[in-house]
Amino acid sequence: MATSAPPPPPPPPLAGPPAPDESIRVLLSLSRSLALLLALLAGVLFLVFLAFAVFNLLLGAGAGGIVVAIYCLASAVVNYVVWRELPGLQALAASRQYGLLRDHLIVWVVLGILFFVLVGVLLAVAWVKAELLLSPPPAPAAPSTAAPGGPPTCPRCGGPTTLVPEFQRYYCHRCGAYL
Ligand SMILES: [Zn+2]
Repeated sequence: MATSAPPPPPPPPLAGPPAPDESIRVLLSLSRSLALLLALLAGVLFLVFLAFAVFNLLLGAGAGGIVVAIYCLASAVVNYVVWRELPGLQALAASRQYGLLRDHLIVWVVLGILFFVLVGVLLAVAWVKAELLLSPPPAPAAPSTAAPGGPPTCPRCGGPTTLVPEFQRYYCHRCGAYL
């Protein structure tokens, strides 16, 4: 037979972006990898600048470089501690405790920005997302007991009424009476 079967319909696209809590978890795991990387980098830079500072001291050229070395050491420590602490924060995100997560995050946002910036920025984005999840959703429209402008229900039987324009009154057909 020459008839070809129609191609199967394409699978429906995934509805919408991934859930917000999922993106927080991705951000946190990304921050964790980056924190370890920066901790190692800062550790290496610390040794480089320490050697540079010692070399300068031996040459009698002052202690230039020692401040940078100390900054690198602090950055190594901070990023290492972030790497250690992040699993706890990831657990908070997994259990949807966004209030606790936000409160714990802010410390690491500030420290992360002060020491090698990158991890702090990533964590700041996660912090904003947690904040957005915590903010109340837009207030729904106030439920109206009666449709605005619509006819009221009959106080006797609860049935629908219709407006009789000539009398400007509502009439209940079920009761056969005006309100
Ligand atoms: Zn009625």
